Amino acid sequence: NATLQDFDPEIAQVLDRELTRQQTYLEMIASENFVPRSVLQAQGSVLTNKYAEGYPGRRYYGGCEEVDVAENIARDRAKSLFGAEYANVQPHSGATANAAVLHALINAGDTIMGLSLPHGGHLTHGMKLNFSGKLYNVAAYGVDEQTHRIEMDQVREQALAERPDVIIAGWSAYPRHLDFAAFREIADEVGAKLWTDMAHFAGLVAAGLHPSPVPHSDVVSTTIHKTIGGPRSGMILSRDTEYAKKLNSAVFPGQQGGPLMHVIAAKAVALKAAAAPEFRDRQDRVLEGARIIAERLLAPDATDAGVSVVTGGTDVHLVLADLRHSELTGQDAEDLLHEVGITVNRNAVPFDPRPPMVTSGLRIGTPALASRGFGAEEFTEVADVIATALIAGKGADVSSLRARVKRLADDFPLYDGLQQ
Ligand code: PLP
Repeated sequence: NATLQDFDPEIAQVLDRELTRQQTYLEMIASENFVPRSVLQAQGSVLTNKYAEGYPGRRYYGGCEEVDVAENIARDRAKSLFGAEYANVQPHSGATANAAVLHALINAGDTIMGLSLPHGGHLTHGMKLNFSGKLYNVAAYGVDEQTHRIEMDQVREQALAERPDVIIAGWSAYPRHLDFAAFREIADEVGAKLWTDMAHFAGLVAAGLHPSPVPHSDVVSTTIHKTIGGPRSGMILSRDTEYAKKLNSAVFPGQQGGPLMHVIAAKAVALKAAAAPEFRDRQDRVLEGARIIAERLLAPDATDAGVSVVTGGTDVHLVLADLRHSELTGQDAEDLLHEVGITVNRNAVPFDPRPPMVTSGLRIGTPALASRGFGAEEFTEVADVIATALIAGKGADVSSLRARVKRLADDFPLYDGLQQ
């Protein structure tokens, strides 16, 4: 019964140092968030000890009466939050949820059509080294060369030519809403199923601040840890129960063995939080923060320094800074902001002239800072720190920018007094 500190000080130190890192840096990776303590507590609980292959009421192990309650609560909350008749809360991650969706909907060799990775799609939407690119025939669509937006007439034209079996709506790096009704029409026209991967924007959907894909899609998948702000994991939803049996079977036994019951309990907690009024206020701040950052990076001094924003703005929780005309590469900019105390990731912009490990863009997200309590005033200050750094480039006054970051971090303590 030794504590972690006593038994394994090496790992205890990693946890301590990581807590300090999260507290002292400003986290702006668009796919990250801070879970509330209630989620940490559920996830770090004795439920991790339990095997529960199968589904509530139909398990392959004894002793599942309590974890059944947790899974039923998680499913009910998911269905009610997103207006879905079907929910599967077992996927360990977004990627396994996506594998199960394709496994349920089509067969190996069938054609999938999703947004290409360099234009903002996800690995599981058909990238050649991923299972999705190896098992299925891939006919990716891209964004328009001028507008950098997904233009639905182009998607339609391509779908008519390629006749995909599944059309994928969803992205990892795209700053605009998708037209789910138009995706539905195209899918119907070519006889494809429509799968939406709302991993990034699910929290905005839950708050009613983003159109919902649920009524239009055959299947919707998501992660729980991005804008929703729950434990690292995935989930599958459907507006009705048409694919319920196939989806359940594709998750277990198709893709996974025993579900992570501690994570499922933590999902239930996060979904409860997402139904509360404060959640909407938080998502409002997420969107406001992203708009403030986009506007600052579009100001004349930024434009003069070759800094811009993909699509000229944002409708969601992230901004894609376009550095194609800046002296900084995406890699340089990521490193510079790291020195200043802001964590972001470099990201290819559409038609990026630089290689994928270098890139000409940054993906800047606001969910984690909104969870930390940031509102318009703080996002205005962060936006100015980022813009000042990117404009000055290699000549940036790192120590004064670092001091501004420190003031913000100090004013918004995170996990105060948390014992690891
Ligand atoms: N789908 C989309 C659109 C994503 O952006 C991501 C993660 O970045 C995933 C799926 C995969 O989620 P995970 O990292 O949990 O496997």
